[in-house]
Amino acid sequence: MVFGTKGKVINSQVQPNLICPHCNTQGKIKTSVVAKYFHLTFIPTFPTGKSGFSQCDHCKQTLEENQMPPAFRNAINELKNNSSAPKWMFSGVFLILGLGMLMSIFDKKNHAEDANFISAPVAGDKYHMKLGYREYTIYRVNKVTADSLYLDFNNYSVNKATGYHRIDKEENYSPGGAISNADAQKLFDEGKIENIIRD
Ligand SMILES: [Zn+2]
Repeated sequence: MVFGTKGKVINSQVQPNLICPHCNTQGKIKTSVVAKYFHLTFIPTFPTGKSGFSQCDHCKQTLEENQMPPAFRNAINELKNNSSAPKWMFSGVFLILGLGMLMSIFDKKNHAEDANFISAPVAGDKYHMKLGYREYTIYRVNKVTADSLYLDFNNYSVNKATGYHRIDKEENYSPGGAISNADAQKLFDEGKIENIIRD
């Protein structure tokens, strides 16, 4: 991962009253504000501060803030106060917020769909079950009656919610037992049925 800070001039102003300490020319000093920002793999993420410099358009002398006479420093401070970091410097933050919102929308939609599946189960539905800490397995609906579900249990469990696919093989299922629709609903409401897969 590449990260670090970069700078970009965000504001400049020619100062009519300042006199260059090097060539004594008045009105040729341009003060500039640089906004520094942190980037992650070159995506600007957040601004980290501002610095300033001046340049004389006549003799080209450049002064950093710590080299400036007081009048220059006052001018640069005023310019800094009137310059704010552009929004693009927060691109990474917006990107992360946007992704988070998308994921949350997707999650809610998914959960609403699962709620429909649990209230009207059909044979073949697969329930991703969280049995306990680092213990996940799959129950498969074998048969549906008016008030119960007959389930096939997967003979294996995995230790990550991302591992369900590894045990989802026909030969891993064996007849489990029946539970009432109400109990299935309860398992869903308690979050023990994490996810429902319907082909
Ligand atoms: Zn000069």
